Amino acid sequence: MPYPLICLGFQSYGAKMGIDLSGKVVIVTGGAKGIGEGCVQKFFDSNATVISFDLDSSSLANQNSKYADFESRFSSQVVDVSNEAQVEDAVTKVLAAHGRIDGLINCAGIQTYGSVTDTTEEVWDRTFNVNAKSMFLTAKYVAPAMITQKAGSIVNISSVQSLMSQKTVVAYAASKGAINALTRASAIDLAISGVRVNAILPGSVDTPMLRTSAEMHRGEKSIEEVLADWGAGHPLGRIAKSSEIGDLAVFLVSNESAFITGQSIVIDGGLSIQVPVILPGK
Ligand code: NAP
Repeated sequence: MPYPLICLGFQSYGAKMGIDLSGKVVIVTGGAKGIGEGCVQKFFDSNATVISFDLDSSSLANQNSKYADFESRFSSQVVDVSNEAQVEDAVTKVLAAHGRIDGLINCAGIQTYGSVTDTTEEVWDRTFNVNAKSMFLTAKYVAPAMITQKAGSIVNISSVQSLMSQKTVVAYAASKGAINALTRASAIDLAISGVRVNAILPGSVDTPMLRTSAEMHRGEKSIEEVLADWGAGHPLGRIAKSSEIGDLAVFLVSNESAFITGQSIVIDGGLSIQVPVILPGK
């Protein structure tokens, strides 16, 4: 007799594991590719209505085709999220179509390289405009609807490079540090209204951005070999899938995370917990 009881218990636990965001409206910036695309898929799978904002119109067109049978639950807009007028217009359209916004997942970002002496002002400004200013702008236009609703969750994709660094990433690393500070400051402003703001800090994630970096630095190696090498630097022995970042974003929009705000949450396979010292003979 104990066997059926164990099965019932397991089924009930399994049902609880899937987060259901039916009725929730979620914007994902940078949603056409990489981590954003992973977030779009995970929110869609959680029954949310998803709006994908991206600059890349051809990838958005592919995404529109993918979700063509689900027009009521998926749409997209070509938006430069570093441009205030475009962000205001895009958010206004979402509110006109859906009447509410429950989640804002800020994934749009660019990787730039340069040391403190050779980074140009143009690269610095572009990096900050796309990576940090965009997250301020989207929150500025989305948060009023969340405040009216007295509920909402904003998730900013930062990076472990906001906590630890490497050579020639001055503007990128600084922009990611700015995201963590923006997250804390806006979380405090919005907490009284029931709106939460958190940052996700990934290690390496298999996306077009990471593959472009691998191409730049691969030397004689193939891109797959470079990604495997980078994966080996993470204690779990691999880089992440964009869907794994999407799972965390879904959790941070759900009521399962209702008491979490202002946090910088690391998801890096242990990359940031290790000391780079190998004992002799190990
Ligand atoms: P990705 O593969 O390059 O995808 C980013 C998407 O954002 C692209 O479709 C890109 O379009 C779009 N985008 C760029 N600038 C935009 C703008 N101004 N307005 C609207 N859309 C814009 O990058 P990813 O690797 O998924 O990275 C997503 C976020 O995660 C970034 O903030 C990145 O810094 C962060 N992150 C990534 C990793 C990683 O290992 N991949 C690790 C830590 C943090 P275009 O291609 O046309 O520019």
